[in-house]
Amino acid sequence: MTYSRVGVVTGANKGIGFATVRQLALQYPTSQTNTGGSLLLYLTARDAARGLAALKEIQNDPKLKEAKALKEDGGLTEIEFRQLDITDEDSVKGFVKDLESTHGNGKEGVLDFVVNNAAIPPLDSTVVKTTLSINYYSTMSASRTFLTLLKPQGRIVNVASTVGGLFYYPDALRERFVATKTEGDVTAIMHEYQDAVDAGVEAEKGFPKGGGYEVSKAGLIGATRALAWSAEKEGKEVLINTCCPGYVCTDLNGRTGHSTPDEGADTPVKLAIHDIGCLTGAFWRSGEQIAWKD
Ligand code: NDP
Repeated sequence: MTYSRVGVVTGANKGIGFATVRQLALQYPTSQTNTGGSLLLYLTARDAARGLAALKEIQNDPKLKEAKALKEDGGLTEIEFRQLDITDEDSVKGFVKDLESTHGNGKEGVLDFVVNNAAIPPLDSTVVKTTLSINYYSTMSASRTFLTLLKPQGRIVNVASTVGGLFYYPDALRERFVATKTEGDVTAIMHEYQDAVDAGVEAEKGFPKGGGYEVSKAGLIGATRALAWSAEKEGKEVLINTCCPGYVCTDLNGRTGHSTPDEGADTPVKLAIHDIGCLTGAFWRSGEQIAWKD
């Protein structure tokens, strides 16, 4: 079976990732990127049992049935599950190999879009390393890998957060974040942060105290912007953006968020398949580009 579009969502077994898959299937027929062909969506999760349960749930979703969104009901979208743990090199390599062998056929690029949604919540200060590892290092590593697989006009959407905004930081550190030009520049700040945490002086160095969630998301916004700029310089016609989904009721915040996961999926879905005016390297919230500084 050939598909005119192929997309991936990470961490899609629950929460905003799951809703993003659901909304992509519902909105694809009326999207800018639908040129009349079908869409294959990979719902990925680090745990196969949780991922397969999510696939089953989505295939029986009453709204998708009613809209006849899925192929089995005469629609345009097919959803398949794949195991993908973004921290596990073998898992990432296996998925990439699978994508290349299934969709390669000597064509330029195999993917139309990727929503890098997977992340872990704010935890206590003993786990800064783990938070940075998943939310920053692994997400950026996955972004670089997926960039090599993107078709021309392809898109990467990295789900960050408003708490990755720079309002937490004193002026000097905020300006250093703003001045970053390369992923290496941003990673240098992440190293500095980790060193400060190890020495117990992160507050003195101007970083927020806690488990590293805010800093990991600030890093993600900066490094994704740098990746977009470097792709542009290399002449790649791709769109790479970050977004905040809003404050959404999910496990990540103990279900305290006030928006629904479907509402949270709005901006990631827009950045993946709707008209965004060719913007790249931007940070978005509520469907609009916003300043990272705020
Ligand atoms: P959830 O905790 O509900 O979902 C997080 C998902 O990420 C889960 O599927 C989880 O899998 C997965 N995940 C975690 N680690 C990995 C990994 N190593 N590899 C693959 N998948 C992984 O969170 P949300 O849906 O709320 O969050 C989705 C995104 O939105 C995150 O990037 C988050 O930071 C961001 N965000 C959320 C906000 C909110 O208010 N909810 C606000 C701002 C940003 P598993 O089930 O196996 O743990």
